[in-house]
Amino acid sequence: MKNLKDNVSVLKGVGPKKQEALSELQINTIFDLLSYYPFRYDDFEVKNINDIVDQEKVTLKGTIASEPTVVHYGRRRNILNIRFLINDDIVKVTFFNQPWLKKQLPVGKEVLIYGRFDKNRSSMAGIKILQSSDSNQMSSIYPTNKHVRQSTIKETVKLAYEEYKDCIFNIVPDDLRNKYKLENLKTVVHDMHFPKTKKEAMLARRTAKFNEFFLFQMRLQNLKSVNQNKGLSIKFDQTKIDQFIDKLPFELTDAQKRVVNEIFMDLKSNRQMNRLLQGDVGSGKTIVAVLGIYACIDAGYQAALMAPTEILAEQHANKLAKLFENTNINVSLLTGNTKQSARKELLPRIKDGEVNLIIGTHALIQDSVEYADLGLAIIDEQHRFGVNQRKNLREKGKGTNVLAMTATPIPRTLAITSYGEMDVSVIDKLPAGRQPVKTSWIRENQFKSVLPFINDRLSSGEQIYVVTPLVEESEAVDMKNAVNIYESFKNIFEPKYQVGLLHGKMNDDEKNSIMGEFQKNNLQILVSTTVIEVGVDVSNATMMIVFNSDHFGLAQLHQLRGRVGRGKNQSYCLLVADPKTEVGAKRMNVMVDSNNGFIISQKDLELRGPGDVMGNAQSGVPDFKVGDPVADLTMLNIAQQEAIQIVSQSDWKTKYSKLFEYVSENNKKIFD
Ligand code: ADP
Ligand code: MG
Repeated sequence: MKNLKDNVSVLKGVGPKKQEALSELQINTIFDLLSYYPFRYDDFEVKNINDIVDQEKVTLKGTIASEPTVVHYGRRRNILNIRFLINDDIVKVTFFNQPWLKKQLPVGKEVLIYGRFDKNRSSMAGIKILQSSDSNQMSSIYPTNKHVRQSTIKETVKLAYEEYKDCIFNIVPDDLRNKYKLENLKTVVHDMHFPKTKKEAMLARRTAKFNEFFLFQMRLQNLKSVNQNKGLSIKFDQTKIDQFIDKLPFELTDAQKRVVNEIFMDLKSNRQMNRLLQGDVGSGKTIVAVLGIYACIDAGYQAALMAPTEILAEQHANKLAKLFENTNINVSLLTGNTKQSARKELLPRIKDGEVNLIIGTHALIQDSVEYADLGLAIIDEQHRFGVNQRKNLREKGKGTNVLAMTATPIPRTLAITSYGEMDVSVIDKLPAGRQPVKTSWIRENQFKSVLPFINDRLSSGEQIYVVTPLVEESEAVDMKNAVNIYESFKNIFEPKYQVGLLHGKMNDDEKNSIMGEFQKNNLQILVSTTVIEVGVDVSNATMMIVFNSDHFGLAQLHQLRGRVGRGKNQSYCLLVADPKTEVGAKRMNVMVDSNNGFIISQKDLELRGPGDVMGNAQSGVPDFKVGDPVADLTMLNIAQQEAIQIVSQSDWKTKYSKLFEYVSENNKKIFD
């Protein structure tokens, strides 16, 4: 029986060598081959001269009106000229370095020439001469590599299609196909590879995209529903939690209460929590995490909290140890910096469950770290981690609940692809009484004029961050920037106020000790490169000065600004920049005008385009073959809604048996 899973080697003409070459293009089965779609087409439809746009690549049909001439110039270069008669028009056609064509172009012969047309000169740069069988066709162009030729793929696809077309059936349910006027898959495969017109190719591509998005979403939604019953059910004592909340120095905001509830519902249920917590900087995500941790440990499980930097991990460890002071929760810190001896002593205690809260960096997901019973894994500033790191932490336990936290708004595209398997909670309000940070932008030569204002902050007992970005290619130069600024602040403000310096070249002990001094207010001014960017929390700091602020992404500036405005006093952000472009100036004004992270990232997206803004965060977006998750977002959305709808039907697995078969066969491959 023929089957689309047959290896391509069953095809005539595909020997071991060709098989290997194809396999380099990830083509192993007939299915792979048939879904190896062209990325574009050459359109060989014969055109009327009057319908051609300047510089368009087209096919012209006419007769040779003059003996071809070949002119040689330079070393091994030549041009072949002919006069080409098309109805009553004469077009001059030039071929570069193809002198042998002369023989195929005797005067009076009717031929088809494909080339680039220059409308003003009524001339054409010839590309090739077509056989009459090529004309009025679209010619598929495939991605290839050194070992496989365009024509090989074309012929092999053709052969595969002829032999296997009857094995192609629709996986997408008929009712959906009717609803969205999608073609059946056999037609799609045919028209993707061998379209006769642009329109055919376009229609086929539309269905192919939908199929791809829909099947991806089906796997995602199915995975989500499979995980429903596999989680740990965390049974904790609500009274104890309430008492703990009562002792906090502040009241939880409504947004925090709502989110905590969502998390508790997940924890109690036997579905595995896989939740993304979004909340602007300073919205109070940490305390939400703390309550989850408390519940989980109260129920007898371990919890882990992973942060992207040593400084942040350490700060979390100190804070949480203090919060849990009067409980029997045992907090440990594990980072890449933990001394070998301490580590050796700690690992067994994690493994046998004596330590119930482990806080740290990437060190938490090393192979050598084993957990007794990990009930909850929390990832802070999760956008700093890759998909696999998230996954590794989750897999440190069985049915471990996962909470990923971020202040960076996630573009819709990523939300329904990379994060599609997660539920989302949002803290959409900052704690009450918090005054928004006042932001201004000045030019570098105006800096002197703000010194009195800075002095006012300091004399009121408040503290100040000063940040310089990575501007130069070399770290040494960047450090010099920071050092220069540090020196000038020292000159101005010492001995009355103390100035500290923090930069990336310092080792972690030095960094932590400087950070500690700032936290204790032994330093009033902290000059730093961007190492303080994420999560650091010193509520007495009320001013953030950012030099060369136009060199930062707006999301990052917003993060930086979020380091202040954490206490009761009015806080300020001062951007010092001489942007060289209008867009640069606009970006500074966005920061001055808005305090809302979602608005800021949207504006940044509009000003700079998605490539720049999403940067590395894009990694982890699944590789779609035909669909573009950014450009085709609307279709992706629809595909998601339909997939959710189908999976919610209790009988979908029997009702759509072909679809179910496909989903279960492919369900592991989503993100690997
Ligand atoms: P982020 O969401 O950026 O991680 P944090 O969790 O660090 O924010 O919280 C920022 C500051 O707000 C901390 O000092 C925290 O103690 C404080 N905080 C959190 N929740 C509240 C609240 N409901 N009322 C007042 N202050 C709060
Ligand atoms: Mg935080």
